Amino acid sequence: MRRNAKILIVDDNRPFCETLSESLELKGYGTRYVPMGRLALDLISTESFSTALIDLSLPDMDGVTLMKQGKKISPELECIVLTGNASLPTAIEAMNLGAYSYLQKPCRTEQILFTVQRAVEKYETSRNLRLSELKMALAIESSDAGYFEHNSDFTQGAISSHWASNLGFEKNDSLPIGDMFQWWRNRIHPNDRTQVMKSYHDLVNGDSDRFKIEFRIYDKKDRLRWMQLSSRVVERDNRNKDLLIVGIQMDITEQKEAQRKLAFMATHDELTGLPNRNLFMDHLKSALARSQRTRRKLAVLFLDLDKFKDVNDTLGHSIGDELIKMVGEQLCHCLRKSDIIARMGGDEFMLLLPEINQDQDMENVARKIIDMIQIPFSIGRHLLRVTASIGIAVYPDDGDDAETLIKNADIAMYYAKDVSRNTFMRYQFAMTHHCSDFRLWKMDNSKGKVDS
Ligand code: GH3
Ligand code: MG
Repeated sequence: MRRNAKILIVDDNRPFCETLSESLELKGYGTRYVPMGRLALDLISTESFSTALIDLSLPDMDGVTLMKQGKKISPELECIVLTGNASLPTAIEAMNLGAYSYLQKPCRTEQILFTVQRAVEKYETSRNLRLSELKMALAIESSDAGYFEHNSDFTQGAISSHWASNLGFEKNDSLPIGDMFQWWRNRIHPNDRTQVMKSYHDLVNGDSDRFKIEFRIYDKKDRLRWMQLSSRVVERDNRNKDLLIVGIQMDITEQKEAQRKLAFMATHDELTGLPNRNLFMDHLKSALARSQRTRRKLAVLFLDLDKFKDVNDTLGHSIGDELIKMVGEQLCHCLRKSDIIARMGGDEFMLLLPEINQDQDMENVARKIIDMIQIPFSIGRHLLRVTASIGIAVYPDDGDDAETLIKNADIAMYYAKDVSRNTFMRYQFAMTHHCSDFRLWKMDNSKGKVDS
């Protein structure tokens, strides 16, 4: 915010003050003039001046004392001392004590105006610098970002209190100030350390001027936290040696956790926590690519619970939900580590057995599932018995892409339902025709009776 600069004139020569004040006001400055040091100090305490013109010999005190006391009240006040020949050494002393300049009386008004203008510019520059430092300090303090700065070999530097608190350290904890960089480096997760160090290496060697990186680091209690580090060089000498690097280290653990949850929700079924259709498709496609290379078979099993609607209808939807969850858990127990199980929706599950040596293998798995599903589930005070029908399609015999394998396993499952339920069927080409009849029949049937 630009304001009109105010100039204070302290001189007991009234005509001089009046003429100078008029000239300054014509240039757009605000002015006040007083004949004595004491009055000047009162004004400095109550009003804000950018520059003071001070005669060195005042009736009540000398100009140097006034300048010293004035700067105590208003440290940024720029002082121009006005001196006669006799007091030149005092003027030099004033310069050593922080006066902006001195002018020897009598001097031309233009010269005074020029010097005042330069002093006001210096005042404005210092004021802007102070304001931006204050703003930055406020921003650093009010955000959770941890600020740091250091030189090229990390022998000198500083950190903000948030930098330490983001790692779980408090004010009273002593950090290894002399060896901060090594200490910090050793806390970075070993898998992320190389990348962080490379970014620093490029910065220090002049290959880059800034970087932003995310990495994991152990906090005071040795818990892993995610940080985002933005670092940049603000000063670099031409030998690329003497650098000033500043940066922000921000704790993004919660953000990362939210991202992880979102990614999980997009790929998993909410009720059972099992992979959903999308993730199953991804797994199936990569397993197919592997099988094409290794020429090994893989099997897709489509499972649908029998008469599941009855559970919902008789015991309610929440018991139905609980049953679906327990079936999901039970299915996991039937599988090997490399197998994948997904919930496709409703009472349908899909299994991928990526390493089949012989047809017997998947039949064994299907039989095991049929047997285990029949073991009654205890939900609240209910003991529920449920059965399942399973259709099986094998790569490459029953299809060589994901969609065909799933479709054919689905057809085989419907065939199993049609035949007897509580059984499994391997897909056969002849089923495709039969199944379309079966679906037509089911649709016609649904218009009249409830179910077969
Ligand atoms: P079928 O032997 O022919 O499979 O008969 P079914 O009763 O199991 O019927 P179907 O498989 O066609 O339908 C499954 C039913 O599951 C339909 C719906 O009412 C119910 N369902 C779908 N999603 C959910 C769910 O998230 N929770 C619960 N409790 N029930 C669901
Ligand atoms: Mg069903």
